[in-house]
Amino acid sequence: MGAETNILLVENNLGDARLFRDVIREISEVRFTVQNVTCLQELMTLSDESNSDADFDIIVLDLDLPDSAGLSTLLSCKNAFHEVPIIVFSGHDDESIAVEAVKFGAQDYLVKGFVDGRAMVRTIHHAIERHALWQQLEQAEQREHFLATRDPLTGLLNRYSLSEILKNQIKHSARRQELMATIFLDIDRFKSVNDSLGYLVGDALLVDVGRRLQNCVRITDTVAHLGGDEFVLILTDLQTQDDAARVCEKVLSELAKPFFYQAHELYIGCSIGIALYPDDAADYESMIKHAGAAMHSAKDAGRQCYKFYCQEMADTARQRLTIENDMRRAIETGAFKLVYQPIYNVATQTLEGVEALVRWPREDGTVLNPYAFIDIAEETGLIVPLGEYVLREACEQAMRWSDSGLPPISMSVNVSARQFEEENFVEMVSTILDETGLNSKRLILELTEHVVMADAEVAAVTLNELKAMGIRLAIDDFGTGYSSLSYLNRFPIDTLKIDQTFVQKLEHGEKDLALVEAIVALAQRLGLEITAEGVETEHQCNIMKNLGCDRLQGFHLNCPMDADQIPDACAA
Ligand code: C2E
Ligand code: MG
Ligand code: MG
Repeated sequence: MGAETNILLVENNLGDARLFRDVIREISEVRFTVQNVTCLQELMTLSDESNSDADFDIIVLDLDLPDSAGLSTLLSCKNAFHEVPIIVFSGHDDESIAVEAVKFGAQDYLVKGFVDGRAMVRTIHHAIERHALWQQLEQAEQREHFLATRDPLTGLLNRYSLSEILKNQIKHSARRQELMATIFLDIDRFKSVNDSLGYLVGDALLVDVGRRLQNCVRITDTVAHLGGDEFVLILTDLQTQDDAARVCEKVLSELAKPFFYQAHELYIGCSIGIALYPDDAADYESMIKHAGAAMHSAKDAGRQCYKFYCQEMADTARQRLTIENDMRRAIETGAFKLVYQPIYNVATQTLEGVEALVRWPREDGTVLNPYAFIDIAEETGLIVPLGEYVLREACEQAMRWSDSGLPPISMSVNVSARQFEEENFVEMVSTILDETGLNSKRLILELTEHVVMADAEVAAVTLNELKAMGIRLAIDDFGTGYSSLSYLNRFPIDTLKIDQTFVQKLEHGEKDLALVEAIVALAQRLGLEITAEGVETEHQCNIMKNLGCDRLQGFHLNCPMDADQIPDACAA
């Protein structure tokens, strides 16, 4: 309360109003201003004027006005002035209504003619203080409620609220026999944003993703942030499952647009899984679990897509967990092995190098190929020790071949995003080259477009450091990633490996041929070498040669093989 207390006196009896003024003026140590209105209408007009709440510290209200009576006067007044405490100014004969008024939110009441100035001033001040305390309490409760139900970063509903809402929504949909969808969304390679650009950018990205998601759904749908890079949407009252698919398409396209932070142009993708009520699940836990399994299946399918849940996915989810646990052990015990696929030079018609490909022989005698475990290794971070093992083993093998008299063929090694973004990646590569003694010019690191584009600025620095060491760099699976080609000029790349899907489509028609022709022409103009991968037929082999490809790799020439078969392949 300021030095002066501003009172709004609502009193139509002018004698009572004057008496009120006179009584409080007796108390000389406090200063009051009193503004008097005489009917409800006048009160309403005053409340329409801007900032009227802030103009008054307290309202002293006679409930019986010419145009309103009793508790309804109080309620109208409370509605018009939400923030201002009210004291009821009652006559002796209607004291019982005044008591009632306190129950309805008035702070206190004064009975006309029965209080002296000092008691009146005390009542007014106490009312103001009590009201302020009450407001603080209300705000604290609201804050507590916010913290308990919302994710503090994005302001979206949190896991707890999601479970409540989803449980309710399932009941509601059951009653009305409506179709609803739970959509589980995970940002692809979010960790790399955090690692390379820092947590502040990571946080900002999560907030912006939350906003874009909200723009993709109806006001009645729910968007929740589970934590990390995981979001859940609940879509209610769907006509068909296509409605859910349409929302997913919108989400994919919204999130594919660039985000801008600190002069970084950031591209992300996401993987989305959908579980439907009542088809896929009938309770909260299985809804989330099945949508999550569908999301993993979308990741396996190459990310940046959505999948509807089906039963096999639950089995896959169980398998994933087993694989993750086994993989930890396999890395510790060195159970992984490498096979090598020859890469041929078109001009010299000789085996110029090999690509190291990891295999996982299991205890049951089966051998897993990378598609079954690389993604899990990436997600869990196990790719870092696994990738280091692969690089060391590949370099050692290249030295073993040289030591046995084989020509110095090149060794291509695949690098995953997670490895590339490790802070000490360059140092790790350099240490392995030193320790194995392999000439850096013989090492080729294969990176995908996603790996280098996740954060182009940081990637350029790393690539230049590798280049300065003499290592050659190839873009693997070229043509499947980003449409922006400008990065080809900015990075010190030596080779493009045209993705096998292009090579294999060559037999299908003119358009595919034109595409590959254009890629080769582009590479030649930029001074890049071209390797065609996945060459499976004589026909594809000839086309790629005629187009001017520098190197060929594929089952038609050689399948991946054990290290001890390479000397024969070299001689052939
Ligand atoms: P990639 O680097 O593009 O490797 C080529 C893949 O195509 C290999 O599959 C190879 O066996 C297969 N391939 C070769 N010629 C043909 C052909 O004519 N037709 C067809 N259909 N396929 C052919 P693989 O060994 O299963 O590896 C799959 C992917 O897993 C690799 O694709 C690579 O991205 C990843 N990968 C393999 N080893 C490693 C590794 O040590 N580290 C990392 N980070 N990724 C690896
Ligand atoms: Mg490769
Ligand atoms: Mg490839």
